[in-house]
Amino acid sequence: MASTLIHGATVLSVDAENRVFEGGFVTIRDGRISGVGPRDGTPNPSGFDEVFDLTGHLVTPGLVNAHTHSVMVLFRGRSEGQSLLTMDGWYNSIREPELSLIASDIAPAVALSCAEMALSGTTTFCDQYFFAEEIAGAVKAAGLRSVIAYGIVQLGDERRGKEELAKATAFLEQQRSADGRVIPWFGPHAPYVDNTEDLLMAEVEVANRFGVGLHLHMAAGPEDNTETETRYRSTATVALEKIGFFKGRIHAAHCLDLSTEDIAVFARAPAASVAYCASAGLRSGREGMCPAVDLRRAGVTVAIGTDNVAANNSYDMVAEMRVAGLVASHRERVAQPLTSRDLIRMATIDGAKALGLDHEIGSLEIGKAADIAAFDFRGAGYSETPDPETLLIYSGSGRDLRHLWVAGEQLVADRSLTRRPYQDIRQDYSATYADFWHRVEAAKSLDAKNTKEVA
Ligand SMILES: [Zn+2]
Repeated sequence: MASTLIHGATVLSVDAENRVFEGGFVTIRDGRISGVGPRDGTPNPSGFDEVFDLTGHLVTPGLVNAHTHSVMVLFRGRSEGQSLLTMDGWYNSIREPELSLIASDIAPAVALSCAEMALSGTTTFCDQYFFAEEIAGAVKAAGLRSVIAYGIVQLGDERRGKEELAKATAFLEQQRSADGRVIPWFGPHAPYVDNTEDLLMAEVEVANRFGVGLHLHMAAGPEDNTETETRYRSTATVALEKIGFFKGRIHAAHCLDLSTEDIAVFARAPAASVAYCASAGLRSGREGMCPAVDLRRAGVTVAIGTDNVAANNSYDMVAEMRVAGLVASHRERVAQPLTSRDLIRMATIDGAKALGLDHEIGSLEIGKAADIAAFDFRGAGYSETPDPETLLIYSGSGRDLRHLWVAGEQLVADRSLTRRPYQDIRQDYSATYADFWHRVEAAKSLDAKNTKEVA
């Protein structure tokens, strides 16, 4: 693989000391970072196959989107006026059309999502949905790094639960990509609302055996705690700890309604983390909001996620960092309890840690995989400041991403995808989108006709 020298940029290492190198450099050899440092240490360009003078750019570790559902780009703008964090809102806008999804819809949708993520600086994402095999295939083709959580749905049927677990286990065995970029996990559907305690614990046991984790929604909707409050007089988080669930690696999305005791459960657990999805929480109109500041204070890893693009309408992690920061200020009634530097860490190294990948990605340090984003700061809006993190988050945009590497492979060059042109991906997607919604409409009119005949 080619050796690469990037120099002249402001480099955010996001290492333990948060070192920033003005006019600094990064070198890549065999897909890994072989050097990073200040301007005066820049090696001689003649020793490299490729040289990028990125003066006027910000170079960061690739961003980690800690929670999304990449297939759901098909529902973009289709749940306006509905909360996706309540059963009702989800049922009214997503549930019915979802029944018309077929396997061949998945790859074009995931390809488009991967394109949008790559073009805005994301190198790794954590996905949860049905059709996990099809998702894995599409992510492998796109070249991004991804944790793909197999959505385990039980629907109150013990036998179905067992079958789903067997399928999910086969997914763990078969879908890990040779290059290590695609990592299969389990994605239990809502605990207590759907997956039983026995099934959840069987999932933890298998996941631990494979050294992977479980990604799920927790404390997202008002329904989450209803069942356990009646049965155990405790929150779902506390009830799950009692059955041993937190012995596994648990990555929980949303967490809008965590009590002080719930936060303590996360803090005690050996490998529990939270995906803070501020836009989705804010948009839902729910009273609760993820206590990101308290969680961090308690020592819990808090990453940042966009959630699906029906709940957000964007995969732009720069915009999501901004919303995450602003919402925390509003919730805590303090000016910026999460600093720009905190937010960058949450969107890189803490995201990596949540996924058990912090030894491999999340910072620009020698030996790590070369997952790197370069944002062009030469345009309007990026005037002088001593604070490059704030410039990206509060003045900038993911749309100013110019180059992106995953494991040293350049996936975005000069704002264009290298593996497959965006126009090609988009054309394919548009045809799938039209076909899918045509099917949804046809199913709806058939339904209406049947209802009429029965009446
Ligand atoms: Zn979600």
